[in-house]
Amino acid sequence: MEKKDIKSLTMTELRAEMEGMGEKTFRAAQLYEWMHRKLARSFDEMTNLPLAMREKCGESYIYTALRILTVQESAVDGTKKYLFALADGNMVESVWMRYKHGNSVCISSQVGCRMGCRFCASTLNGLVRNLTPAEMLDQIYAITLDTGERVSNVVVMGSGEPLDNYENLLRFLTLLTDENGLHISQRNVTVSTCGLVPQMRELAEEKLQITLALSLHAPTDEKRRTLMPVADRYSLEELMETCAYYFEQTGRRITFEYSLVRDVNDTKQDAETLAALIRGLNCHVNLIPVNPVREREYVQSERRAVEAFAALLQKRGVNATVRRELGRDIDGACGQLRRRFLED
Ligand code: SF4
Repeated sequence: MEKKDIKSLTMTELRAEMEGMGEKTFRAAQLYEWMHRKLARSFDEMTNLPLAMREKCGESYIYTALRILTVQESAVDGTKKYLFALADGNMVESVWMRYKHGNSVCISSQVGCRMGCRFCASTLNGLVRNLTPAEMLDQIYAITLDTGERVSNVVVMGSGEPLDNYENLLRFLTLLTDENGLHISQRNVTVSTCGLVPQMRELAEEKLQITLALSLHAPTDEKRRTLMPVADRYSLEELMETCAYYFEQTGRRITFEYSLVRDVNDTKQDAETLAALIRGLNCHVNLIPVNPVREREYVQSERRAVEAFAALLQKRGVNATVRRELGRDIDGACGQLRRRFLED
């Protein structure tokens, strides 16, 4: 029989498991606390559980824990980029950032990605596999242990398309925000998508209080198709309708991510078209001066173009800000570190 991944089980499921093993149900709470509060890296650390029970758990379940391969720390702002080894030898990366309002971790949801966005290094070798809920949590747990500091915000914006790993993502969110675990507020969690309409609708119906960030990156279908193959599947019209539905269901305003690429999507006309596209939507636009990707030809917009773009949106009544660039000196864009490691 295939072993279950114990860290991906909810408290209710864990209780049922313990009952099935003939253990008292309070053992489930103890186990859960070791896994999700004390962030134990193995059953051996769970010293208030009887040795026989720990051994039985070791035989019956998979217990995941990530191994740190490298940590790059920005000399400029202290941002740390981690490369982790998974049990099967695959690698994922995560980023730790310190903000005024607390520490934020950006995690990966898949090894690689199959979405094919042209400005992204994560997708160059396609999708390798989905991450389990435990492996998504493990990135946050390993960073908490390494830094010794509490994480207050989580962003699912690293390698992978989270909504392409939908069931695991939902379970991860349940565990992450559970009061018996790290208990991170749903409002402090952001999930980023390149725009998978059916899953966005499903997520809306979950009525979570998380922030949904949509990678828009272009104001017309034509331009978006040159940057993101997903635009061949879903039009901007469908996407905007879905965003309105998301707001209607959850009351949460959408964040639009817009990476500015020189001479590709950063002109005055682009800003005008974008303002018209999202008019009336309850949203916020995050402008990102794109990180140069070594394997791709895109060049960052000039500072002046970024500022002019933001100013024009604001003039049209759009809530827009330019994202502060963190960790520029340490392979900032998602997928770059893993790729560099694979090449070496
Ligand atoms: S930007 Fe995100 S969705 Fe697009 S290829 Fe990269 S990881 Fe995948």
